[in-house]
This record gives sequence, C-alpha cells and structure tokens, in this order.
Amino acid sequence: MIDLRRDTTTLPDDRMRARAFQAVLGDSVYGEDPAQTELEELAAQILGKEAAIYLPSGTMGNLTAVLVHTRRGGEVILEENAHIRTSETGGAAAVAGLMLRTVHGPGGVPAPEEIEAVIRSENIHYPRTSLVCLESTHYRYGGIVPSLEAMESVRILADRRGIPIHLDGARIWNAAVALSVAPEKIAGYADSVMASLSKGLGAPVGSVLAGREDFISEARRYRKMLGGGMRQTGWLCACGVEALQPGRMEQIRRDHRNARLLAEGLLHRLAQIPDIVLDLKQVQTNFVLLHVGDRYGNAREVVDRFARRGVLATAAGAGTIRFVTCSVVEEEEITAAVETIGEVFEE
Ligand SMILES: *Cc1c(COP(=O)(O)O)cnc(C)c1O
Repeated sequence: MIDLRRDTTTLPDDRMRARAFQAVLGDSVYGEDPAQTELEELAAQILGKEAAIYLPSGTMGNLTAVLVHTRRGGEVILEENAHIRTSETGGAAAVAGLMLRTVHGPGGVPAPEEIEAVIRSENIHYPRTSLVCLESTHYRYGGIVPSLEAMESVRILADRRGIPIHLDGARIWNAAVALSVAPEKIAGYADSVMASLSKGLGAPVGSVLAGREDFISEARRYRKMLGGGMRQTGWLCACGVEALQPGRMEQIRRDHRNARLLAEGLLHRLAQIPDIVLDLKQVQTNFVLLHVGDRYGNAREVVDRFARRGVLATAAGAGTIRFVTCSVVEEEEITAAVETIGEVFEE
C-alpha cells in the first residue's frame, strides 16, 4: 500500500525511540519532568516566544489558546474554512462559549478589510470581538501558505483595533520551509501559536503552544482543566525534542519535493483524461488536491478504486481528492502511485 492519506501516519524512527528511552522522567504537572521542560524551552526559542507548553494534541492547543485570549460570549473572527471551525468538534463554542464569525480568505488569510468589516463596535447588543485566528499552512485549501505580507496586514489591523491574534500553526514547519524563513518569522505576526510535533516532524504525540510568559501561565491552568496535565511525559517530550532538531526540516523539504513530483507526474500522466483539474499553484507544501468530474462518481468512489489498486488517498469533498506526503512515502512510491492512478482513470 502506498499511503498518501495524511501526515499523521508518521512513526518515530530509531533515533527518536532511542532518545525517548533514555529520557529522565518526572512528574510534569509539578514541572519536574526534565524532557518536558527542555521541549518547552526549545519550542519557545524556535517559535520566538517567551514561553511554551506541551499539550497532547493540536486541538487542545488551539482550544487552550482561545480560552486564554477570550471570555465567554465573545466573538472570534476566523477564515471560514479554518480547522478551528471545521474540525475541532465545535470546542470554541461548546467549551469556550464563543461565537465564531467567519470571513472568506481564499489565499488562507482573509484581507484586513474583510476582517475589519466584521469587527464589532461597542454596543450593548453586540458580542465583543475578542480574537482573530489565522492558520498556516491552511489545511482545507490544500496546505497553501499565506504570504507574510497578508499576515502582516492583519497584524497591523489587529494592533490598531487592540485585538490579539492566535495562529493555528499545526504545519508552521511546512510554511517556514515553503517561504524559506525561520518559523519565528511567521509566528511573529501572532500573539500565540500552536504547532504540531506529531505530523510531518514524526513525533508520536503532541503539540506545543507558545506565547508571552503571562499567556502561557494562564494556558497551563486551562491545559490542566481540559485534562492535558499528564505526568511522566518525558518519553513523549524527548520525541518532541528530537522532532525539533534542525536536521528534521530536511524531511519536510523532502515531503514538499514528493508532493511536487506527484502533482507534476499526475498532470503529465492524466493529460489526456477529461474532467480532471489539478492546480499546480495550490501545491505549495505537502498536499496535492485533485478535482474530478461527476462522470467518475464522487471522490469517495474514486478513492476506493485507488485503494483497490494499492494507493490510499482521502476524499476531501464531493469531487476533491487529497494526497498528502510525509516520511512514510518514498520517491519511488510516488512514481508508482502516479502510474496506478493513471490506470484507474483509464479503466
Ligand atoms: C491537525 C491539525 C490540528 C489539530 O491537531 P490534532 O493534534 O490532530 O488535534 C489543528 N489545526 C490544523 C490546521 C491541523 O492540521
């Protein structure tokens, strides 16, 4: 099977496992686990923030950030297809008691005018605009990377209106590689940032949330409240430390090259097949979106046909198929997948 479904299928390699088993453990809830402390300090440094905390998931990281930045009944402005709205079980509403106000941002980040148009004025009838959330890379739009200019223009607006920004940077590593900048450059446009260790970087569990010292001490309380105060996390955090070693970015670069190879291969192989659209401009990181016409059935049916021939992908919408590259796929498998997919469309 060639698995192009997700980048959460990555497994810890031998180096990571060795570091995990050598980790000195302690009770993290009391700040006594050296590996967790090391990971949190390293993450803060890499993300250019005063402090960071380790959490069991990105979903908990985003929810924790949202809880710290807001009060119940407030309103959060975010891009309409943001992961926080579409894929985090409604936690911002159910747990944090917030209203979500969505704006469209096909480039991943909404234009400042669009955001400004929905910022609430002071009026007893209105919820207060409490937070703007951004996302990089943008998941639903195929891992596209919002430009630094777009992020900066939202930062300028947020400063002018006194509204904090949280960045869902689950794949900030991919964004940094794509833009050839350090992750802290991207995180610098936000007050807080969540980043995943368990996707392309290959750690088995966890995410980090970084921000100012006072923000993080509040976040520590909410992490505990949400059940994220784990004890001997050292085994997991040692994997996180290994995931953040500079050499690991090479894997992210390889993933991007493989996605590009897949996209170009498919464009070439499927050139004579009608009703198929692949936009190379979307292929900026480790995702490839393939849009297939009705004549092939819905995306789920097409994905099932791929799977019967040994290529796994995800149905990401009625006519959209998503391929994601990560360390579980090698370059030779990309070439083989292209051929298999070509055969399926010729059936
Ligand atoms: C995966 C992901 C998350 C959530 O991370 P989990 O660890 O799966 O909870 C949040 N935002 C984006 C953009 C993601 O891709």
